[in-house]
Amino acid sequence: MPYQIYALKYAERDTKQCTFFFREPSQDTLTLHFYLWVILGGPYPIVLDTGFSAADAQRREARKWVSPADMLARVGVKAAEVPVALISHLHWDHWDGYQFFPGARFWVQREEMAFWTGFGGQHAHYRLFAEPEPLADLVKLNYAGRVRLVEGETPVLPGITTHLIGGHTAGLQVVSVETAQGTVVLTSDASHFYRNIERRDPVQIITNLPQMLQGFERIDELAGSPARVVTGHDPEVAKRFDEVEPGIIKVA
Ligand SMILES: [Zn+2]
Repeated sequence: MPYQIYALKYAERDTKQCTFFFREPSQDTLTLHFYLWVILGGPYPIVLDTGFSAADAQRREARKWVSPADMLARVGVKAAEVPVALISHLHWDHWDGYQFFPGARFWVQREEMAFWTGFGGQHAHYRLFAEPEPLADLVKLNYAGRVRLVEGETPVLPGITTHLIGGHTAGLQVVSVETAQGTVVLTSDASHFYRNIERRDPVQIITNLPQMLQGFERIDELAGSPARVVTGHDPEVAKRFDEVEPGIIKVA
């Protein structure tokens, strides 16, 4: 079934080149764009990631924050009615917007859940990238039957599949989607920028470097063409695909 996909940009934040490319010495500014992705054309809309909250935007000094729910409304989707939210990983900027989806079941890789509710909290290096309250709520949501733990490659609907990659985080997953243009891969943070995947130049924020490098191979194999790879934080996404309105990018 051919699906449509939108990348919805809801915030921006300046960081440094050296953080996002392995052993890159440059301290120059690098601007991250924050997206969530929505897949339409099936029996119900599916989102990949939930964005982050207004409190996160303030705490982490992000600019131009717009509620992810408002961005979804602009493509005709009511966040409160979305039944399935695929979670690429549990970093703050991908998980903390869970409150916008009170009707959703959240699909998280088993290793990702285990890492952030266990080992990740033991080390300052990892604690930087997650917020304890949203993770505590994830545990509560799990006990309320609203978390689906997935393992490895998992079909979501015919033509939509999640794939365990790891690397950037313990259980990071990417999503492949059949569209009229072919198979699109939404990489989320398996590749923040096109430079990461195209030069095999991984981000510094990792749990497992070989997994990250193998992930690039897997993404290319799944997509079959670099023209169908949608990276996680690159402003370039708006240029490579069709920005139909400011912040609303039609991928396929
Ligand atoms: Zn991210």
